[in-house]
Amino acid sequence: MIIGVPKEIKNNENRVALTPAGAKELVKRGHQVYVQHTAGIGSGFSDDEYTAAGAAILPTIEDVYSIAEMIIKVKEPIEPEYKLIKEGQLLFTYFHFASYEPLTKAMVESKAICLAYETVEKADRSLPLLVPMSEVAGRMAIQKGANYLEKPLKGRGILLGGVPGVLPAKVLILGGGIVGTQAAWMAAGLGADVTIMDVSLPRMRYLADVMPANVKTMMSNEYNIREMIKHADLIVGAVLIPGAKAPHLITKDMLKDMKPGTVLVDVAVDQGGCIETCKPTTHENPTYIIDDVVHYCVANMPGAVPYTSTLALTNATLPYAIQLANKGWKKAAQENPELVPGLNVINGDIVYKAVAEAFNMDY
Ligand code: NAD
Repeated sequence: MIIGVPKEIKNNENRVALTPAGAKELVKRGHQVYVQHTAGIGSGFSDDEYTAAGAAILPTIEDVYSIAEMIIKVKEPIEPEYKLIKEGQLLFTYFHFASYEPLTKAMVESKAICLAYETVEKADRSLPLLVPMSEVAGRMAIQKGANYLEKPLKGRGILLGGVPGVLPAKVLILGGGIVGTQAAWMAAGLGADVTIMDVSLPRMRYLADVMPANVKTMMSNEYNIREMIKHADLIVGAVLIPGAKAPHLITKDMLKDMKPGTVLVDVAVDQGGCIETCKPTTHENPTYIIDDVVHYCVANMPGAVPYTSTLALTNATLPYAIQLANKGWKKAAQENPELVPGLNVINGDIVYKAVAEAFNMDY
């Protein structure tokens, strides 16, 4: 198959959908890989590395779209790309269709085959192509939180791990899923006093088994949250209710009960946030302060570490990309049921119910 890897053109997107190692795996299996000039540069991969792996470099995005049978990307196509997409072309990327009608309409009109990373689903209902970004964001939440706890950045001026003779900081993590677990590992590793709150007892039993002694678990309810926030130095919002907006576990009135300089990192901001006073921020301007409490609410945290994020994402996407290249999308989906829910649009038809329902379109 002829595979094209365009350079991402969405603002501040430095990830790339295929690494030189991935290109080599595809070339080894007899496929032709075309990478747009400098597509990998934001993630630290030069054109020469792709060439050495057997890929060919094309000068423009138009060249890549015009030659490829399958386009592998990171972010959804944006407006200037719509007209480049060809009928029958397979697009394998994040789409998040339900959040943007013009994209959905454009993909229906293109008659392309749109296989969305975010809806590829395993038998246990987990979403293997979303997990890597949650892992990155969870780990980063502690790195960022530790930083913003420093006094010059308006935090409490407390070192997460303390020092001999001085108690460590208290970290409260709301939600013990992928983000929360990764955040807990990082905070625990730095020596903080960590509490994870969740509503799932089986999940907390698991966490209690695998976490070190400086991580405790506690049932998430309003009473417990009100008590815990009085003592926390860093609070990480990591709650997810699939398909719904995040619940506001911390409301505006609770901020006055927190210590001045407490830092809130609301990773769940992309689902509306689990802290009422959270509104999306950017890497350029990541924080704001309300009632002496620092809010960090960047909606695309993994974008700040494109090297790690690209490797993490492509580790997860490459096995699927290889199946699609080897067999074509129809046979690959017949043989691997995980790919079936990934199919959102096929030759002008919406085949994913939630997307059709979001815009009252035919399904
Ligand atoms: P997950 O499904 O693995 O975990 C969510 C956890 O929240 C589950 O353990 C669930 O039991 C728990 N939960 C549900 N209701 C709760 C409540 N009332 N109190 C406490 N816990 C509760 O999800 P995840 O992959 O960890 O993702 C968490 C959030 O982070 C999602 O909104 C996701 O979209 C977001 N995210 C954001 C970024 C970013 O850059 N900002 C990056 C990746 C993921």
